[in-house]
Amino acid sequence: MSHSPLARRVCLILISLAVCNTAMADSRPLTSLEGKTMGTFYSVKISGDLPEDKAHLQQEIDALLEQANNDISTYREDSILSRFNRYQGNDPQPIPGGMADIILVAQRIGRATDNAMDITVGPLVNLWGFGPQKQPVTIPTQAQIDDARQRVGLQHLTLTSNSKGEWLQKDLPSLYVDLSTLGEGYGADQLAQLMTRKGITNYLVSVGGAISSRGVNGQGMPWRVAIQKPTDKENTVQAAVDLQGYSISTSGSYRNYFEQDGKRYSHVIDPSTGHPINHTLVSATVIAKTALEADGWDTGLMVLGTEKALKVAEQHGLAVYLITKTDSGFATVMTPQFKAFLQQEAKP
Ligand code: FAD
Repeated sequence: MSHSPLARRVCLILISLAVCNTAMADSRPLTSLEGKTMGTFYSVKISGDLPEDKAHLQQEIDALLEQANNDISTYREDSILSRFNRYQGNDPQPIPGGMADIILVAQRIGRATDNAMDITVGPLVNLWGFGPQKQPVTIPTQAQIDDARQRVGLQHLTLTSNSKGEWLQKDLPSLYVDLSTLGEGYGADQLAQLMTRKGITNYLVSVGGAISSRGVNGQGMPWRVAIQKPTDKENTVQAAVDLQGYSISTSGSYRNYFEQDGKRYSHVIDPSTGHPINHTLVSATVIAKTALEADGWDTGLMVLGTEKALKVAEQHGLAVYLITKTDSGFATVMTPQFKAFLQQEAKP
């Protein structure tokens, strides 16, 4: 069984508890804007007075996210990224600054996770039926996996910049860059920057499961979000954090998968095996300065599994919360950096 894209994304891993903080000391107007983008949903919550008409603000938000889709969507044939993926030569190709920012972060996190997070994993994602091509779900043969793995590797991608702009180059004609795992974080950061440009200082913005925040909510309290229990049936809160101006993102293996012969195949692929991840870590949440960072790290940690993920988190001082499946249910573990944000935690 596999969830439809819409169903699995309605049940966001991160549930906004923006208006649920306890104290009611202060009360300000709260504006909520919502819409669709990147095959999922965006949400903007602003506390305090709006500097402009709500409808106009929504238009600007939609235009900004439309631009992000036109730049980095592999679901649009005419996006800049899709054109780069189709290009069969090895000359540097011009790319927008925002896309260069994403690739720079991806390269850094790729190195830090020993290529567990690898934005060139697209041929394997597509082979397993989780990409835009959405092939019928069948288990690929080892020969198909080996063939796709030949076309994967961050070392084949070079990012350069000069006075004329940013450039992306590949030394394998069939290299396929997939920014799906970072796009939501990038989108949330873009929304946050738009708010800041407009002088809005209290907001909680999200695209899919990536959230950015600043300031306080309608009650003058820190914005609070919840991490969902990793089941595919209910929206039950596992833990809640106050963001304190930080960003958060969760990667999970329990929402987007298919089942065959009683076995689950997750959409998160381990580039070192060419197979979907097959370990007990089911949810990785990261809090970071930007949603792009958080969104990149959570996928890398998901691929690594609990033990290696904790080591990497320790090395890089990351705020991380991991949920692992056990025989009797779930177990959780967090880094000290994460604990500083934690407000409540349910028994796993
Ligand atoms: P995450 O856990 O954040 O990432 C998992 C995804 O990353 C996988 O689905 C795969 O694509 C990729 N991945 C798997 N393994 C790895 C790895 N080891 N390293 C790096 N990446 C990996 N979906 C639609 O159905 N329709 C659309 O029109 C559509 N448009 C989109 C436009 C944009 C700009 C973007 C960024 C995404 C779009 N998507 C679309 C995809 C979708 O909404 C999600 O972004 C995607 O499913 C991944 O987000 P996630 O939070 O579910 O998973």
